[in-house]
Amino acid sequence: MSITKSTFREINESYTIKEAIDEAKRCLNCKNPSCKKGCPIENDIPGFIHQLSMGNMGDAMSIINEKSNLPAICGRVCPHEKQCQGHCVLYAKGKGIQIGKLERFVADFDTDMNLIRERLPQKTRGKVAVIGSGPAGLTVAGDLARQGFNVTIFDSQEEPGGVLTYGIPEYRLPKAVVRKEIKKIEALGVTFILNCVVGKQITVDQMFDMGYDAIFIGTGTSLPKDLNVPGAKLRGVVQSSYLLHMVSIFNQNEINRDNVPLVAGEKVGVIGCGNVAMDAARTAIRMGASSVTVIYHRTEADMPAIQSEYQEAVKEGVKFLWETSTIEFLGNEDGHLVAIRANTPEGEKEIPFDRIYLAIGSRPANRIVSTTTGIDVDDNGYVIVKERPYGMTTRKGVFAGGDVVHHPKTVVLAMKAAKQVAAGIAQYVDAIKLLDI
Ligand code: SF4
Repeated sequence: MSITKSTFREINESYTIKEAIDEAKRCLNCKNPSCKKGCPIENDIPGFIHQLSMGNMGDAMSIINEKSNLPAICGRVCPHEKQCQGHCVLYAKGKGIQIGKLERFVADFDTDMNLIRERLPQKTRGKVAVIGSGPAGLTVAGDLARQGFNVTIFDSQEEPGGVLTYGIPEYRLPKAVVRKEIKKIEALGVTFILNCVVGKQITVDQMFDMGYDAIFIGTGTSLPKDLNVPGAKLRGVVQSSYLLHMVSIFNQNEINRDNVPLVAGEKVGVIGCGNVAMDAARTAIRMGASSVTVIYHRTEADMPAIQSEYQEAVKEGVKFLWETSTIEFLGNEDGHLVAIRANTPEGEKEIPFDRIYLAIGSRPANRIVSTTTGIDVDDNGYVIVKERPYGMTTRKGVFAGGDVVHHPKTVVLAMKAAKQVAAGIAQYVDAIKLLDI
């Protein structure tokens, strides 16, 4: 395959208007919709599909917006087969409604047509700082701005979006879609301060001094885990998240091809078998690896990646080694990886690789917590939060949500947790304002 940026073009095609309305008309508008029970944020799925079936795009969008600030993204990256679509009554007959594609259609239509937005309240209820602009941060910011809070998002990167911008590959989630979705959050009156590392350029205490009533930490899990085996420091052993980040900015013409940690023709291995591993494997194929093999210590049935991602990877030529654990990385005299030594079902083996990407999980960085007093974390660095007000840390006025609290999950689960925290923040700020009077 020749390596061009078009190799990363989005795989799943959008519906045309006619296709979307025809699909919507198939929905039975069930009285007790099982699809809604399968949705972590309980989107009113039959409600929006019904509006769509009548051609009422704006109403369909308003219904979706009651629960989601990021529908164009969820419509693309949610594991629909496990959630809404997998629960649709028509699914068992092989005729499940394509809910994800319909959600995506409505969101894209709304963006492309720039439909008139809802009337927004004055921002008089208080001032909230949000740290991190991934799915959790954007959700909290969107929810609070809609409810009349003045919200500022601080992010360490040049572009907002966190994992949406720098982690999920272009062929699954085009950056243009993420940018448009973020523009909509901005249009709700949210301010973005970029290239700002909280804990370095500014601390949580300084944010309170600046007059923020509450602060939300939604920084996710930015530290990838290492594999503690001999040879782990060899050149050629790289984190998957680093590959994905570099390819993402290469696709945006921000760096040269040489900066991407993969030379065309390399024999690539990916250790781990979750969705990040699938993203790294499929990205390596697109960047010209001669072969890509996913190495997983458990069986196919134990694989955490969603089925559709796995099947796509297989279709694209990714190979899988099951029940195979790496016990050593082997290098040449130049200190570059040449093989792994692994325990396999056939016994111990040396398997040649030029490049290994690690995708064995991640954990929270501690920059914010270590520069702020009073925020307790557990032994693994996850922030401890309360039930009342929901999501508040052990430090008054500081809240946290998403992966930094709940361990890495899907985009929609980070959103679900963040929605509850947004309600907790609103309650807290209203209460302190009342006491102030
Ligand atoms: Fe429509 Fe399926 Fe939901 Fe029923 S379960 S309302 S058919 S999407």
